[in-house]
Amino acid sequence: MTDETDIPDNSENVLKFTGRFDSSSDIREMRNFVAVPPAKSRDPRCTHAHLLVDDYLRQLTCRRCGAVVDAFDWINSVCKGETTVDFELRQLRQEITDHRLGLERLKREEVNCRGRIRTAQFKLNDIKMATECATKELTFLTDRLEQVKNLRGTR
Ligand SMILES: [Zn+2]
Repeated sequence: MTDETDIPDNSENVLKFTGRFDSSSDIREMRNFVAVPPAKSRDPRCTHAHLLVDDYLRQLTCRRCGAVVDAFDWINSVCKGETTVDFELRQLRQEITDHRLGLERLKREEVNCRGRIRTAQFKLNDIKMATECATKELTFLTDRLEQVKNLRGTR
C-alpha cells in the first residue's frame, strides 16, 4: 500500500497538543463509561414544555434545561393536562347552562314587573280621576255652604 506513505502520521503531535490542556486526557479515553458533562442549567421546576426531538438517537431533550425526557412520561403528563382541561370544560359548560337558566328567570321576572307597573299605573290613574271628582264636589259643596251662610247672614 502506497497510501500510508502519502499521509504523514501526526497522531503524536495531536496527543501532545491536547495534553497541553488536560494532562490526564488519555485516562478518559481508556475508560469504558464516561459521564456526560452536566447540563448548563438544571431547573427542577422546568416542566420540559419545549423539546428537542432527535430522530437519530430516538431521544427527547428539553431545550430549556437540557434534561432527557422519557417519551411516555411526557405524553402521560400531556394526557393528565388534557384530563384537567376536560374537567374544567365540563364545569364551564355547567356554568353556562346555569347562567342561561338564571337569565330566563330574570326575563320572566322583568315581564312580571312590567305587568305590575302597568297595573299600578292604571290604579294611579283611577285614583287621580277619583281625586279630581272629589275635588270638584268639594269645591261645589264649599261654594254652596258659602251661599247658604250669606243667605242666613242677610236675614
Ligand atoms: Zn426542562
